[in-house]
Amino acid sequence: MMELDFPFVDTIPIDEQRRRANRVAELATEEGYVDSVTRDVTFEDETVRGKYWRGVNLIEIGTDSDDFPGFRTGIVLAHEVGHAFYDAWSPDSGIEEQPRLFRTADEKEQARRLSERLHGPMIETNGPFVDYRKGSDEELAAAVFASRIIEPMAAQRIAPDAVRRLENIFGDLSKNLF
Ligand SMILES: [Zn+2]
Repeated sequence: MMELDFPFVDTIPIDEQRRRANRVAELATEEGYVDSVTRDVTFEDETVRGKYWRGVNLIEIGTDSDDFPGFRTGIVLAHEVGHAFYDAWSPDSGIEEQPRLFRTADEKEQARRLSERLHGPMIETNGPFVDYRKGSDEELAAAVFASRIIEPMAAQRIAPDAVRRLENIFGDLSKNLF
């Protein structure tokens, strides 16, 4: 897998990105972390491209081939599979406890870097609509997972500590993941 990530270039063809995401979605399905993936979903919110339904393990994808790569099927699907593994790691997340996959300042900063690289810069605002990724350990984990799956060499180069931590945690859930 690693040799497919062009040395020094992070422009992986969209088809190859989709293949990598499909592979990990199939693995997550076989191992019971994802129940099913529904494609061509039309979301009410036009800015949404994918959704993972916690508890029932369903993934919905609704991507547009005109979108920029971070919103295309491969990265979106890998991101949602990342949510599925995070859910399996911390089933009570957001309800009672606040699990923290990324603990150190380095891990958090590196995770944020990958998230911005894949999905665009964080929106800074003082209002109630603070960017959903800001401070969300789970969103950062989904982004780091997507990067690790889609562009493993870049992920490890840009975010070595965050990727190592994610590999340790998610690798315990599935021996075939990394
Ligand atoms: Zn997400």
